Formats: sequence, C-alpha cells, structure tokens
Amino acid sequence: MIAPTTTKAYVAIWTPWAALLCGPCHGKRTVHGEVIDTTADEREPIAKDARLATCTDCGCTVQGTSDAVYLRRLGIPGSSLEQTGGMCAGLSVTFPDGRYAFASLLDGPYVVSLNRSEEAFYDGEEPIDCFEFGSDTGWPSDADADRVRETIEQWRANR
Ligand SMILES: [Zn+2]
Repeated sequence: MIAPTTTKAYVAIWTPWAALLCGPCHGKRTVHGEVIDTTADEREPIAKDARLATCTDCGCTVQGTSDAVYLRRLGIPGSSLEQTGGMCAGLSVTFPDGRYAFASLLDGPYVVSLNRSEEAFYDGEEPIDCFEFGSDTGWPSDADADRVRETIEQWRANR
C-alpha cells in the first residue's frame, strides 16, 4: 500500500484492457501514440477523497476513487486486475495448485472469494470460502484492505 507521502500524482485511467495507467503510459498505448486527454499528462494535487495506487505499466503513483484503484492498491503479489463488465474491476490471483481468489467491490465492501479454479468461478460454482469486508455506506477503509490482504495470504498458505 502506498503512503500519502507525495503531494501530486497522475489521475488513474482504467482501461478496457484491464490496466490502471498514468496519463503518459495511457498516451503511449493509444492509437498512433496520440494522447487523447493532454491534461492527463500532468500530475495533479492529491484529491481529498482520492486513494493512491501504482500505474500497471511504469509503477508511478496514480490517484483515484474507482474500484480499480481500491483493488490495485491492495498490492497482492501475483494478482492481476480484471474487467468484469461495464468497466467494473476485479482482482484475481491464481495459486500454484489452481485455486482462484477473486476480489471486487460491491457498492461499498470488498467481496473476496476462494474458488476451486478460475473455470469454476466463471461457471458460477459455489466458492470454497467467501467474505465481505467493509460497510454498505461508502468506500472500504484501509483496515478493510488489510483484512482482504490477510485473507488472500492465508488462502495462499493453506493448501
Ligand atoms: Zn505509467
């Protein structure tokens, strides 16, 4: 997790290809290298309600209030962001034995599940384990994020 030691950061851009990017990296990835929104190339003062995460491509600090930012800032080793439809974000981790952990934000709390496999998850099979961390009134806290991280690490350790 990133401590708010910086006063300016790029506004995070969540892409259709499931990357969370800073302005300059997003500009490089657009057709012909054109930067669509040039204001995104400037670091902006950290917004009061923003959370910090890192750019998928270059690792610089980005800010935002989207579910993708909340998931990316968990910083779970081996995880990847996923598009879950309607530009909503999920975060997945596949363990070496094939089990598949998936986290998302459901109108407030983190919802994190352990599934037999990625296929089982997408087939709608009942998860092995599932927890909600946070409240239904607003974004989850850093303590909720800690609980998600701890849960996934326990699943990783307990085969
Ligand atoms: Zn970047």
